[in-house]
Amino acid sequence: MIQSLIKAFTNLFKKPQTIDYPLTPIAKDKEYRGLIEYGEESCIYCLKCEKACPPGAILFVKTENPSANEKNKKALEYNYNPYLCIYCGECVRACPKPEEALWQSNKKPSVATKEDKVNDNWFVLERLKKES
Ligand code: SF4
Ligand code: SF4
Repeated sequence: MIQSLIKAFTNLFKKPQTIDYPLTPIAKDKEYRGLIEYGEESCIYCLKCEKACPPGAILFVKTENPSANEKNKKALEYNYNPYLCIYCGECVRACPKPEEALWQSNKKPSVATKEDKVNDNWFVLERLKKES
């Protein structure tokens, strides 16, 4: 009982252990895992990241874009869905050129609106992928 009173009294003079959120933003942990970033110039189009991704948030789809055709022999275009991604990092682990072709940033995805039609656009890409 006395010990509890002493503890309570000394706690009165200590800094609070809590953060005044949302007035004080929470600092991101340095191990925080966020959006996947892609370096097209270093990509060798092995598709290991696409195969490794559990929810299918990476899709390489054949493109009609001639400039992309010139850049890569397989004429594939990288697509990433940040709203489907679970930030597990499996794609980066599977990539033979991590940190150059694919890496995990500590950025969060932006808030999507209905007008962005994120799901509709992704369904189109999935269909194109199946057809190719
Ligand atoms: S972090 Fe995980 S879920 Fe996100 S793209 Fe990579 S493998 Fe897919
Ligand atoms: S695993 Fe890496 S090199 Fe292979 S397609 Fe994906 S990003 Fe490109």
